[in-house]
Amino acid sequence: VDQNLGEIFYENFKAIGDTEMIALINKVNNKKISYRELFVASLKTARKLKDLGIKEGDFVGIMSDNRLEYIVPILACFYLRVIIHPTNSSYHLTELKHAYSNSKPKIIFTSNDKIGKVVELQNETDYIKKIINFDDNYLDIIEGGAILESIEKSSDCDRKTTAILTSSGTTGHPKSVALTQGNFKFAMSNFKYPIFSYSSETIIIGMLPFYHIFGLLQIISILYYRVKMVILPKFQPVLFCEIVEEYKVPILSIVPSIADFLAKHPIVDKYNFKSVNDIVCSGGALGYEIQTILEKKFNCAVRQYYGMTETTGLIMACILGKKCKPGSIGTPVPGVEIAVIDAQTNNTLGANKPGEICVKGDLVMKEYLGNPEATRATIDERGFLHTGDIGYFVEEGDFFIVDRLKDLIKYKSFQVSPAELEDVLKSHNEITDAGVIGVPDERAGELPMAFVVKVKNSKISEQNIIDYVAERISVQKHLHGGVRFVDDLPKNSTGKLLRKQLREML
Ligand code: ATP
Ligand code: MG
Repeated sequence: VDQNLGEIFYENFKAIGDTEMIALINKVNNKKISYRELFVASLKTARKLKDLGIKEGDFVGIMSDNRLEYIVPILACFYLRVIIHPTNSSYHLTELKHAYSNSKPKIIFTSNDKIGKVVELQNETDYIKKIINFDDNYLDIIEGGAILESIEKSSDCDRKTTAILTSSGTTGHPKSVALTQGNFKFAMSNFKYPIFSYSSETIIIGMLPFYHIFGLLQIISILYYRVKMVILPKFQPVLFCEIVEEYKVPILSIVPSIADFLAKHPIVDKYNFKSVNDIVCSGGALGYEIQTILEKKFNCAVRQYYGMTETTGLIMACILGKKCKPGSIGTPVPGVEIAVIDAQTNNTLGANKPGEICVKGDLVMKEYLGNPEATRATIDERGFLHTGDIGYFVEEGDFFIVDRLKDLIKYKSFQVSPAELEDVLKSHNEITDAGVIGVPDERAGELPMAFVVKVKNSKISEQNIIDYVAERISVQKHLHGGVRFVDDLPKNSTGKLLRKQLREML
């Protein structure tokens, strides 16, 4: 049956009736909401949207930090087959205007601290009919008032756009990615064993931004599998550690910047992390060095996932119960076809040969919203999406990511991966963080150069660092372009290093 997620959630919720099982907890104010209350609130929100004239195919925006209210309009939109378009909560007016220039949402959900910008946007444009403020006692709608009485069944919903999500903007302007019902249903099939494993006791932490694919998938997955989530507005080290200890959290879904924190920050040692038995890291390269530190420290599996916004999250995963090769991103999730393609010749490559990873299957986005040229440049005639990532597989089947095609450093005839160098640098215990880029050079093409954040009061010198790398890695990858100390590195909201900004700093 071609059920859409709205129908699935609706029936799921109806089946649990009046259960007061807690669904969501806001860590900062300890506010809780049960699955029953969530259901009522979402039905009332849906009814309200309908009364405002919102119908299938319309867009609804959300601009807010993570909080439990965030989940309510998402559910409501799923029931009505209205397209959700969450945006980065730290956007300035011009970015917000740009983000919504194609979808033109009629309703925007927001919060006290963001509403100023949304009102300005409303004044400068003509599409916003109503702004709904989560801080206006929004959840009081649970008491009294009309609900959506039933939902319309749909047919052929799998190709219909359900959400617009924005890529991280690591390599350029963030792109608006249109994902369908079919995409999300595929993504949900990954949340079970042996890729992921939820049990009725599972509690997860909602700290990755809900407007990013990983955060949104977490929301959808807990509704789908009915587990609990403790929500943080954003990653906050102390609160994060408190949640792990207080709620005995078993699974940590993290990104590399949080992996660095867990591996190196002294406050982690002050908390009890014994409940943690599975750590999954995605969104960027988890270096082998950091992975090893985490495995020892937490005495549990540390698994890498690989995915992107355009593929509704996961493409590959190190699966449970099988020891992945160190540094590997695992194997393709079921139902995904992979081709490693030589960027120059377009030939498909065999084992051990690095090329662009291309992906086909129900996970591939419908399009970049309002940008057919970009869509055509990314999805080829055979239906393969070109990820822009260089990787290879070994005979046993495990895949490895070398780096982004755009970021590879061309030193003489060699290709040097900045990620590999960053990993070596970060393994030094007087280095907190590192970013590597290629600096133009007449003779060699480009020279690998490192921006380094050192531990407070460390006396380590540029030359010490160059030597440290030289002792560990082959000569073409040495820091021929030198080292520069900085106080911090430019990162985006999912903690990704912005190498383009490092290049601009030169
Ligand atoms: P933009 O496309 O706007 O430049 P982005 O590619 O960072 O930003 P996302 O869709 O959030 O936006 O991230 C997907 C990318 O993250 C992948 O294409 C890949 O480069 C990187 N990535 C994800 N997981 C891993 C991993 N395990 N190892 C290495 N890189 C990863
Ligand atoms: Mg990308």
